[in-house]
This record gives sequence, structure tokens and C-alpha cells, in this order.
Amino acid sequence: MSKIRVTALYSGSKGNSIYIRCGGTSILIDGGKAARTLECALSSAGGNIRDISAIFVTHEHSDHISALEIISKKYHIPVHITEASAVKGVLPMSHLSSVARLHTPIYSERAGEMTVTSFLLSHDSNMCVGYRIDSDDDSVGILTDTGYISDTALAAVSGCKTVVIEANHDVKMLREGRYTYTLKERVLSRAGHLSNDACAAAAVELCRCGAERVLLAHLSEENNLPELARAAVEGALCAAGLSATVLTASPDTATEVQ
Ligand SMILES: [Zn+2]
Ligand SMILES: [Zn+2]
Repeated sequence: MSKIRVTALYSGSKGNSIYIRCGGTSILIDGGKAARTLECALSSAGGNIRDISAIFVTHEHSDHISALEIISKKYHIPVHITEASAVKGVLPMSHLSSVARLHTPIYSERAGEMTVTSFLLSHDSNMCVGYRIDSDDDSVGILTDTGYISDTALAAVSGCKTVVIEANHDVKMLREGRYTYTLKERVLSRAGHLSNDACAAAAVELCRCGAERVLLAHLSEENNLPELARAAVEGALCAAGLSATVLTASPDTATEVQ
């Protein structure tokens, strides 16, 4: 049995990091916020930064990599990142560039009993990827920071038992909110962030293909509420005659998917 345990350490526009364990191997997806914050969040979740064998980066925006220069300086953990993202966000940082493992947009890497495979997302960074993580009898899909979910991205995580999907905004809250017109258009675009309704549509497809647990991630603190995101996804699942455990990730505290 190689169950993959997933804990969102924190998730949102201020910083993102997901702690993943399987057998004796621990990895992180992204490392936003300050290095000290990441270390503390990890130990609160029962982990230790010294036990992390690799860090996989989705894209070069600071809410996903801001801890990694200091983490790289202190612990020399390999950081897997696409070359396109590295050129923009990583190679200018000396310690991070010394541990960076550069990849083509679609790549696959072993981490202990897990295989981590990337796929393309649609976001206004140089490059943005999601990840599918497989062990011999478990699987996890991670799709955050994407304006929409393409058929290819959906297929990449089809069959995963646990999925982490972005539920960034409620469209009405965003449209009526304080953001500037330009920023609203950016978030709503196909290279922006995923709405609750788009997330719900993807969750229905993924639960039809076997997903049992859905963690809603990267919620906007300005343009969303956890209860709205959950209601959108649970309502869509119910209307489709499906059920799953639906959780929301917090911007500050750890959320373990059980
Ligand atoms: Zn981003
Ligand atoms: Zn982000």
C-alpha cells in the first residue's frame, strides 16, 4: 500500500505550498511565502524541511517560489522547474539556480515510490504546469493557477483519487469587487485564474472518473468565500448524482486531505 498523503500548508495569492508524502518520501509542490514561514508550516503539519527530497515548482510567480532562494541556500534540496519558468524567476537567484533541475514543459521524475508528471496549464506566467503524482496504488492531481482547464489537462489527472483544483473566485464577487477593470479582465481571462463554476465543472468530470477527494485551492481572499466555493462544487456534484469529500485550503493554516 502506497497511499499518498496531501497537505496544503497554505494556499492563496500570498503564498502556496503543498506537502506530499508517500512511504518514506516527502516532497513539496511550490514554496511561496518566507522560508521561515514554510519551515514552521511544515513542522506544524508533522514534517521537517530536512526530510524533503525534492521541490516541484508549478510556475515562477512569487507566491509559488519566494521561499526557495533561502531554502536552497540552507538545505540544497533539488528544485524541479521548467526551463521557461526558470529563465524568468529562478536563474537570476544564485542559490536557487545552483539546485535547479531544468525541464521541458512536459516531464516526469521519480521521487521515492512516487512518479511526478507535469502537464500544461494556461496562466500569464512564462510557463505554468500542473502535476500528476502516482504511486503503485494511489494518485493525486494538482491544477492551480490556470484560466481554464483544457481537455489535455483534464485527461492528465483523470482517474486521480485526490485532486487539488483552483477555485479562485466567485465571478459575481469579482465583477462587483474593488479590483481595477484591467485586473478583473486579467483574472477572468483564459490566462488568469479559475472561477468556482469552472472548478465545479472540472470537479464533476474528475469525480466521474474516480476522484473521491477534492481540495479547493488558491481561493481569493478578496473575491471568494470558502462557503461559496464549496457550495458551487458540492452543488454541481449533487446535480450530477456524484459525491466526494470537498475541502477548502486556507491561506494561513494547513489543510490535510483525509
Ligand atoms: Zn500565478
Ligand atoms: Zn498563484
